[in-house]
Amino acid sequence: MSIAGKINDLKTSLPPHVKVVAVSKFHPVSDIREAYDAGQRLFGENKVQELVAKYQQLPEDIQWHFIGTLQTNKVKYIAPFIHTIQSIDSLRLLKEVDRQAAKCNRRIRVLLEVHIAEETSKHGFSVDECMRLFSENQLDEYPNVIISGLMGMATFTEDTKQVEHEFQLLRQLFDAIGQTGKAGDSFNELSMGMSDDFQLAVRNGSTMIRVGTKIFGERRMVEK
Ligand SMILES: *Cc1c(COP(=O)(O)O)cnc(C)c1O
Repeated sequence: MSIAGKINDLKTSLPPHVKVVAVSKFHPVSDIREAYDAGQRLFGENKVQELVAKYQQLPEDIQWHFIGTLQTNKVKYIAPFIHTIQSIDSLRLLKEVDRQAAKCNRRIRVLLEVHIAEETSKHGFSVDECMRLFSENQLDEYPNVIISGLMGMATFTEDTKQVEHEFQLLRQLFDAIGQTGKAGDSFNELSMGMSDDFQLAVRNGSTMIRVGTKIFGERRMVEK
């Protein structure tokens, strides 16, 4: 099936409030254009250099989401145009995003990445750390970012019970933060779910899924 067909199928299968970030990493600009022509506007990338190159070749109204490990020294390259940085995993990184946003005279939307998986390879704040960021007002020092919600990745496992448990944990944290009254009106995105587990994520309260393979097929290198 075509990329357009896959996007349309995916979107009709979802409740209308769930946003789809099409994860286009390792896929060429021509594929992104095809998705764009099918109406897709949110795209996710995880490498700064690749993202900047694609940004320069594609329409201005794309909302680019950064979803990978972000080194502080590279924030400046994406700060002028990035829509949302989903992978804020330390206050050090948040501080640099805040600083670069100020330089660009804009506010940048961010999601805090929470470590819910078993694997230690995944990044993010622990559930307790994340809760404390709000309860102790630690985020008030960053006026140039908009704290828009949370992002998490479940363990890579066939055990759906475990994956579901991890999604529930993240949803509970998201709700608990909302109940502190310290998160603000913009705190409304819960980014969880990928190609293999988005249905489970949506059933457990995801508002935004990040889907690559299911839209674009297996990842390949971008043609130079
Ligand atoms: C690559 C990636 C995805 C998309 O994965 P698929 O399994 O191809 O849908 C989602 N989220 C993050 C953080 C990723 O790095």
